[in-house]
Amino acid sequence: MRAAVIGGGHGTLTLADVPRPEIGTGDVLVRVHAAGVCATDLMGIAGTPAGAPSRVPGHEITGVIEAVGSGVTEVAVGDRVGAYLMFACGECEPCALGEEECCERGALAGITTDGGYAEYVRLPARSAIPLPDGLAFDEAAPFFCAGLTSYAGLLNGGLQAGQRVAIVGIGGLGHLAIPIAKALGAEVVAVTSSPAKHELARSLGADHVLTGDADAGAALKALGGAHVVLNTASAVEPLANLVAGLRPLARVVLAGVGAGPVPIPAGALARNQIGILGSFIGSRAQMVDLLALAQSARIRPTIERYSLSEVGAVHDRLRANEIRFRAVMTP
Ligand SMILES: [Zn+2]
Ligand SMILES: [Zn+2]
Repeated sequence: MRAAVIGGGHGTLTLADVPRPEIGTGDVLVRVHAAGVCATDLMGIAGTPAGAPSRVPGHEITGVIEAVGSGVTEVAVGDRVGAYLMFACGECEPCALGEEECCERGALAGITTDGGYAEYVRLPARSAIPLPDGLAFDEAAPFFCAGLTSYAGLLNGGLQAGQRVAIVGIGGLGHLAIPIAKALGAEVVAVTSSPAKHELARSLGADHVLTGDADAGAALKALGGAHVVLNTASAVEPLANLVAGLRPLARVVLAGVGAGPVPIPAGALARNQIGILGSFIGSRAQMVDLLALAQSARIRPTIERYSLSEVGAVHDRLRANEIRFRAVMTP
């Protein structure tokens, strides 16, 4: 089958013909119809040394089940599905708590095991999540990382209907976080350093838009302050500008995957009992719930469509921050 692979002596991404994945007991084989492109894919490629075992990236995967292994009863050949990206063990402590995203022995599609930049992908049947009718493969794919990460971040922050949430960063995640937060009944303050995105943020449903500069905390406070801040950007330094706009008991949720320390003074945290927490993808149950919400609230990503053969150019556009707002490839 045709696939984009990294490693295997290349160190970069190359298109190649590779064997179709084999499925075992409890697995399904999915014919890929769409694969979303996430910034994490670029980090994975950059972090893979030449000579590492070859791997197929891609973790926003939708398609049709082509074959099922023995023992699979929950899905069937011909089903339209998306891939819950953590192939969890189902037995460790986080799995027992329903937090498969923190599985201690799981594999991540496209990151630690082969993913969706290919014509076919192997999934454990439990990771094959049925797609609602009417949700197209290409529009469904971004929900499986960008959408889930946004949705779970808002829920992990404890966001309630009627509360005010500041969503920092309007990119692949943030552009879905805005309509998801609206669908959850929140008042949404979009925070973006890019003036060009102000109108876009409003068109996505944001009630207010702030630039995120040194005055942003005061501006957020003037709006009543944020109950929840969802940082979807990889940079965390700009969060320092929002501290004055945090309500007592606010939660600052880090859903981006940047490396920097969080610049919020301990005194400000203690005085108002503010919590900082990380949020990683989301659970399988949240994935199911999000697809239902997307259907009932008519939430769709804004996507650019490409073929898998254009993957090099797509990644170049992503590196240059030119994608609006998610690129989706078809094998
Ligand atoms: Zn991702
Ligand atoms: Zn586990």
